[in-house]
Amino acid sequence: MLVLARTTPPEEVKSRSHGISTFLIDIRTAKGKGLEIRPLKMMVNHHTTEVFFDDLEIPADSLIGEEGKGFRYILDGMNAERVLTAAEAIGNTKWFVRTATAYANERQVFGRAIGQNQSIQFPIAQAHIQMEAADLMVRRAAAMFEAGIACGAEANMARYLAAECLWNAAEACMQTHGGMGYAREYHVERYFRESRLLRLAPVSQEMVLNHVSQHVLGLPRSY
Ligand SMILES: Cc1cc2nc3c(=O)[nH]c(=O)nc-3n(C[C@H](O)[C@H](O)[C@H](O)COP(=O)(O)OP(=O)(O)OC[C@H]3O[C@@H](n4cnc5c(N)ncnc54)[C@H](O)[C@@H]3O)c2cc1C
Repeated sequence: MLVLARTTPPEEVKSRSHGISTFLIDIRTAKGKGLEIRPLKMMVNHHTTEVFFDDLEIPADSLIGEEGKGFRYILDGMNAERVLTAAEAIGNTKWFVRTATAYANERQVFGRAIGQNQSIQFPIAQAHIQMEAADLMVRRAAAMFEAGIACGAEANMARYLAAECLWNAAEACMQTHGGMGYAREYHVERYFRESRLLRLAPVSQEMVLNHVSQHVLGLPRSY
């Protein structure tokens, strides 16, 4: 388990992101000796757990890199995770757009395909447009990360845009399927539940907006 822990009190460092270190902990030896892991019953991701630390002692060689610089190391991984999950959201958006389009073409109501109605067409088309735009930002962030260029803003914005287009596509697909959207055989309800997660984890939309407000626009830190 990778753990980020404060090793210097906040009042002794210049910035709150300093004085935090990264450790690699062997769960097998730590469990029961100050580390407790409790499973959480979740809507999706059924392997999710709560983790408790209580006077856990770890060997000095658990430290990764230099003491006090752990936040920077983790931040690097966070950008990669944001780009990765954004790309995942683009893929899921494509599934919703494709599935909604197929059903809209197939399902006949009042003697014609429901996809002939603009109220059904437009949300699917909007989701497609948003997906294409988000995809460009995901690719930009990924290219910057790959080139070793600082990409915090781009990775955050890509994650934000991808999570929004995914949720809009999920809603459009669900509405297109009518009551059948709730029938498990179509898998729409499952993807619908899973898609909501991207607006909260690994980073919430609000925290992305905080990042952009402060670090891109130069507005005062709000938290
Ligand atoms: C299924 C699942 C799997 C997860 N897996 C992992 C994992 O593998 N590793 C890991 O580290 N974490 C994981 N998480 C945790 C996840 O990253 C957090 O739940 C998420 O970042 C939100 O943090 P929180 O739950 O502490 O919400 P809170 O911080 O309690 O926030 C609650 C709400 O208030 C908003 N909020 C809080 N502060 C502000 C502010 N200053 N301004 C505006 N809005 C604010 C948040 O955006 C959110 O909407 C997982 C979560 C879930 C649901």
